[in-house]
Amino acid sequence: FTLPSNLAPGPLPHIPDNLTLPQFILDAWHPNRPVNTHLNPVLIEDSTGRGVGLSELRARTFGLANEMRARWNIGENDVVCIFSPNHVDYPVALWAAHRLGAIVTTANPAYTADELVYQLNLTKASVIFTHSSSLLTAEKAAREAGLTSSRVAVLDSPEGYAGNYSTLDRLVAEGLSKLPTFEERRLNPGEGKTKIALLNFSSGTTGKPKAVAIAHYAVMANVIQMAHYGRATSESSRRYRPGQVVLAALPFYHIYGLIVVMHFYTFVGFSLVIMPKFSLEGLLDDIQRFRINHLLLVPPMIVLLAKNPIVTKYDLASVTMCMSGAAPLSAELTSQYCERIPTSAIGQGYGMTETATTLTFPRIDVKVDTLGSGGQLLAGNICRILKADGKWAGYNEPGELIVKGPTAALCYFNNPEATKETFLYFDGKPDRWVRTGDEVKINEIGEVFVVDRMKEILKVRGFQVAPAELEGHLLGHPDVADCCVVGIPDEYSGEVPLAFVVPSHAAQNRMNSDPQEAIKVKESIVKFVHDHKVHYKRLTGGVEFLDSIPKNPSGKLLRRFLREKAKEILAAR
Ligand code: AMP
Repeated sequence: FTLPSNLAPGPLPHIPDNLTLPQFILDAWHPNRPVNTHLNPVLIEDSTGRGVGLSELRARTFGLANEMRARWNIGENDVVCIFSPNHVDYPVALWAAHRLGAIVTTANPAYTADELVYQLNLTKASVIFTHSSSLLTAEKAAREAGLTSSRVAVLDSPEGYAGNYSTLDRLVAEGLSKLPTFEERRLNPGEGKTKIALLNFSSGTTGKPKAVAIAHYAVMANVIQMAHYGRATSESSRRYRPGQVVLAALPFYHIYGLIVVMHFYTFVGFSLVIMPKFSLEGLLDDIQRFRINHLLLVPPMIVLLAKNPIVTKYDLASVTMCMSGAAPLSAELTSQYCERIPTSAIGQGYGMTETATTLTFPRIDVKVDTLGSGGQLLAGNICRILKADGKWAGYNEPGELIVKGPTAALCYFNNPEATKETFLYFDGKPDRWVRTGDEVKINEIGEVFVVDRMKEILKVRGFQVAPAELEGHLLGHPDVADCCVVGIPDEYSGEVPLAFVVPSHAAQNRMNSDPQEAIKVKESIVKFVHDHKVHYKRLTGGVEFLDSIPKNPSGKLLRRFLREKAKEILAAR
């Protein structure tokens, strides 16, 4: 399956294979970005309204790169971790690292120290850019990962900040005051296809979170695919207009915020209003204050917009487009959103970390996507659907989506076994196909309908939760002999984790002699996750006891069976 050629606005433009991301986004001349950047700031800090123009952004990336080389000797393939909420200097840290040939791994600032240590160790990151609000965790994790505190810097410069840590402002100022200590990394023709830009985390079809190696070229390809799709034939129906404003409410540490919001919207000449922490009131306030035109959201944010009565107190008429992604958006929510914000079109994008984000986009020719559609295929992707009987599906037949395109990630970093499971080669050809682990149907006009998720991951408010990670953790609890984590549906979060647990002998004996003990054991298991994992991984779906966890003869958990059992339990609650 491909986007039918009569629906594409001409052939896909050339994708540069010899540029790094900052060279593509900041240095190459784009017709989309007016030269007078004061009139068209690239970034706007929402709390102060301060705008940052293209030339300032460029200068800051050079200043920071210079200081990163001088101070930490950061260079080819060194890994830099950004552990921060959205901030105007987030892209500065990212693109400065790229100017040095380094790789960036982004981490959720709500992570616990254990979770951050896992990421630092897996990627071998040697520097952490954090934020004053996440500094304590960053410090602790850095120590555990063997990094000295001189290798931790903060993006923000809070007033009266007296810490010993370098602030990005100071690093930039020092870098700009020195003679250049580095030569910018330039790529040979074709090198962009294999030069790693990002290590973003995803657990793929099975197992624990893994670092997905994404090349510079893959990100540029996705940006160009989206821009190409968004070009309409008539000026009046053009979706992306330079000078318009988008709200950067999605976190930059997740691939959707990082590539679609930060890279794509900068490329098409929008101003990005940077929102560090999501709240409904903050969102509404920003829309009204900055006359936001485009919203990129995940379904739980749309639930709030569609249902909370305070929304009606705000003037939201500037909004003309809303894209939902990362998890399915129901038809009911789509219609409720349309009633609330009648000026706005709405549709879904569908994609994944392993495909450097979007495979589909909200349709350009309609105001509201076909209900249930996950968007229309972008040009440049070729899809196959593998049916349960092992044959390839035709139009409107469900099966697992397998996709080939210019945005495919390179591999799971240092993990050849997992790479082999997800990145496939057919017929001995060198083309890399990506297994999505999603069950979909595709119709004659290239719309993708996500039917079910076949892979293990849960999506809680759009965030991935790997059952294998929680199961590994739960086995460290003294009362847990065996366990299996599945998702149960939740109106706000989409789904939430529930743990089936086989109690240890000791716990079982205690429960046999005291009926109150079962509640205590459950509470202690819930707390054990609460204390060690980020908020969306918590067992909000509860804990249920079982005598044994059903497994097939080779010891593989029968998750589907337990997912069904969880639904029955939910119905009976
Ligand atoms: P991530 O790598 O965290 O972006 O997660 C990718 C996964 O999120 C996909 O494989 C899907 O299972 C799910 N997903 C993303 N977008 C959508 C969508 N529009 N509808 C349904 N599921 C989605």
